[in-house]
Amino acid sequence: MCESASTLPPGTTTWLEIDQSAIRSNLRMLRGLTGPQTRLMAIIKADAYGHGARATARSVLAAGAQALGVASLGEALELREAGIDAPILLLSYVPPQAVPTAIGHNLTLTLFDAAQARVCDQAARATGRRLKAQVKLDSGMGRMGALVGDAPALQEQLADLSWLQLEGCYTHFPQADEDCAWTREQLRRFLAAVAAMRQRGAQFSTLHSANSAATLTMPECHLDLVRPGIALYGLSPSDTVPLPSGFRPALTWKTQVVQVKDLPAGHSVGYGRTWTAASAARMAVLPVGYEHGYRRAPHESASVLLRGQVAPVIGRISMEKTTIDVSLIPGARVGDEVVLLGRQGKACISAEILAARFGSNNYEVVTGLSARMPRLQLSTC
Ligand SMILES: *Cc1c(COP(=O)(O)O)cnc(C)c1O
Repeated sequence: MCESASTLPPGTTTWLEIDQSAIRSNLRMLRGLTGPQTRLMAIIKADAYGHGARATARSVLAAGAQALGVASLGEALELREAGIDAPILLLSYVPPQAVPTAIGHNLTLTLFDAAQARVCDQAARATGRRLKAQVKLDSGMGRMGALVGDAPALQEQLADLSWLQLEGCYTHFPQADEDCAWTREQLRRFLAAVAAMRQRGAQFSTLHSANSAATLTMPECHLDLVRPGIALYGLSPSDTVPLPSGFRPALTWKTQVVQVKDLPAGHSVGYGRTWTAASAARMAVLPVGYEHGYRRAPHESASVLLRGQVAPVIGRISMEKTTIDVSLIPGARVGDEVVLLGRQGKACISAEILAARFGSNNYEVVTGLSARMPRLQLSTC
C-alpha cells in the first residue's frame, strides 16, 4: 500500500514538494468534524488538485478515507493500475462504450438521466455483469444530474434496469461557502426527491451532498458520507469559509536561481521591455514561467521567496523564464532554492495570494500547475 518518498528526475530545476503528512492530518481533522457513522470520500480529481493522485490516494486511505472520487475514467484507471482497490466513484461523464472497462475495474459510475442509465444498463447486460452506479440529482447546481422534480419519473425508468446496481444518490452545492440558507433549501429538495424515489422502490444505501464548505460548516449536510476536496489539501473553500486552525497546506512550488547578474542603469528586462533598471541592479533568472502555470499576467505584484526574503518579479514572465530583482538580497547565488508558492523560513506565499494575482481562486492555482513538473512526494505512508 505504501511507498517510500519519491525522488526528482536528474536535471529537475522546477518542481512541487507535497507533504503527504499534511494531507493525512487534514483528512483526520475532517473526519473529526463528522459523526462516526459518516464515511469520507476523498475527492482527488484533477490529479488530486495538482498534488499527485496516486500518492494522495494512498495517504487518504491510510488516514481513514473509505472511498475516492475522481472525474474521469482515465483518472480511475490510473489508481487501479497503481494497485488501489478502494471504492472509486466517477463524478463526471463516462461514455457508455467504457462501461465494460468500468465493470472490469470495479468502478462506480454516475447516472445523470434516464437515457444514459438505459444505455449503461444495456452495456452492462452485454458483459453479463452488473454495473455499480449512483444517481446524481440537480437540486440547484444547474449542471449535470436529473432535476429534483424529475426524480420520481427517473425512478420509474430505473426500476426496470436490472443490470444497474444502485449504491447511492447524491447532489452538489454551488454556494455552500456563501449561503447556508440556500444550501439548506437545496438539501431539503434533495432529501424530498430521494424520499419520492424510495416510495417508488429505490434502495439507496448511501446519500451524500457535502463538499468541503458544507463539511466544515453545515453538519446537517453530512448524511452518510462527505466529499471534501480542497480542504484535504489544506486550502480553504473560499474567503468566507476559512479553515479551522490546524489544517496545513501540503504543496510547495520550488525552483532555483540559474543565473545572477548585475545590470547597469537603463538596461531593460524581458519581452516588451516593460521593466528598466532605474539604477544599477542585481537580477536573477528562474527557470519557470507560464508553461508551468506561473501565469504571465497580471504580474505587477508578483514576487518569490529567496533566502527567506521576498524578491519582486521584474519584467514579463516568459514561457519558461522569470526574472527577479535581488538587489536587496546580495547573497543570492546560482543554485539557491526559490519558493513560488508555499513557505520559506518565516515568509509565505499562499495559494490565495497567487490566486489574487491571477484573478482566480486557490482551486485554479493548484490545478493549473503543469503536469510536466515533477512532484516530490514527502512523508508518504
Ligand atoms: C470537486 C467536487 C467536490 C469537492 O469540492 P471541494 O469544494 O473541493 O471540497 C465534491 N463533490 C463533487 C461532485 C465535486 O465535483
